[in-house]
Amino acid sequence: MNNPLQSENYSLRQQLETLLLEARRNEEKMRRFDQLERQLIGAGSLLELVHLLLTEYKLAFAVEHVTLALVDKDYEATRILENGPGSDSGLSGLTLLQSSIALNALYGEMRHPCLGVFSPLHHQALFNTAPGAIASVALLPLTRQGELIGSFHLGSADPERYADDCGTDFLERLSEVIAICLESALSQERLKQVGLTDALTGVQNRRYFEHRCPVEIGQARRYKHPLACMFLDIDKFKRINDTYGHQTGDDVLRGVASIIQAQLRSGDTIARYGGEEFVVLLPQSEWHHVRQIAERIRGSIEETHFQAHSGHAIKVTISIGVSMLPTRDLAGASQLLADQLVAAADKALYLAKHNGRNRVVCDAALPPGSAKQPLWRWIPALPGARWCRWMLAAPGELIGALKRLKRA
Ligand code: GH3
Ligand code: MG
Ligand code: MG
Repeated sequence: MNNPLQSENYSLRQQLETLLLEARRNEEKMRRFDQLERQLIGAGSLLELVHLLLTEYKLAFAVEHVTLALVDKDYEATRILENGPGSDSGLSGLTLLQSSIALNALYGEMRHPCLGVFSPLHHQALFNTAPGAIASVALLPLTRQGELIGSFHLGSADPERYADDCGTDFLERLSEVIAICLESALSQERLKQVGLTDALTGVQNRRYFEHRCPVEIGQARRYKHPLACMFLDIDKFKRINDTYGHQTGDDVLRGVASIIQAQLRSGDTIARYGGEEFVVLLPQSEWHHVRQIAERIRGSIEETHFQAHSGHAIKVTISIGVSMLPTRDLAGASQLLADQLVAAADKALYLAKHNGRNRVVCDAALPPGSAKQPLWRWIPALPGARWCRWMLAAPGELIGALKRLKRA
């Protein structure tokens, strides 16, 4: 029996088996990477892409801690992620940075993945985990055209997982794929945004509203928040075009849109629904507050002096219909409720037009005793009762009423 030969043979076989095992592991890793890469490339939105990175990557590669930082100087990603469907479920692990200073400090001149031991001083802020939870980290710079656009961070409890002598080919490729996918998701979102914005006034268009309304209804139902809808239509707008020309009409439309916008909060939606019609959604607003906002919009438009191209000052008024989504449990699909909400506001607008224009009318389904019929309106028309009604009315309405009286 040749013992040295036998033991050499045995050791070679062991080495071969280890290499085969390693090759199989790498093959499996490549297969999972290939699958994830396809998912990343196929992501339909920035939200989906971020979600894939923060959750799917973790599962596919059994990494305990995954975080992502994106440079978002103009709050573009912030807005996209805030407004996307499912945004309310939160994106834990994502940080949006207003500048690339912190990432430049992290990577210095290096634009390759950094692997090594977890350092509480340098890495704690990237992961926000309990002390001792992470032993080794891989930090992937995400760059486009030489600029850092973000950073992807992997943290493992295993100190060997991201040892600094590990190969980085796979991680380099991953960081390139992520950076390209992020850039492409952002430009896709920009294109969507162009398709959803009204070119004349800069507010959202009807397509956006039709997509947004059922989303808002879904959220209002889930959290039992009130949701209000306003339908606004400029009065006798055709006359403006006929008297001062189309260009002046366009200026008035832009001005009216910005007056409406100025009265809204950042979470509200304003869209140009058609020619001289706008629609507004106000989540988490009680009806009496919505009515006040509608009155303020109506009042500011009435008081504004728009200017015609000829130099003439133009006065414009607007009629507004208001409806509310009830806060009780509602049956039916959100789309159906959206149609009903808009139809109710449109009907109220029709009444506002029918009753003389330049007014706010609330949908008849609003609670009895609502501001549509405040108590002071029921004071009978006795001598002096008109003054008494004005004394009890909101100051804004009192001033408006006095002005109208003066003009009459
Ligand atoms: P009402 O008080 O009943 O709403 O009367 P109106 O004149 O506002 O309503 P009507 O529907 O008769 O006219 C709407 C006008 O809006 C007709 C159209 O020329 C004008 N219009 C629609 N889109 C635009 C636009 O983009 N620019 C300009 N300048 N005018 C527009
Ligand atoms: Mg109209
Ligand atoms: Mg009109």
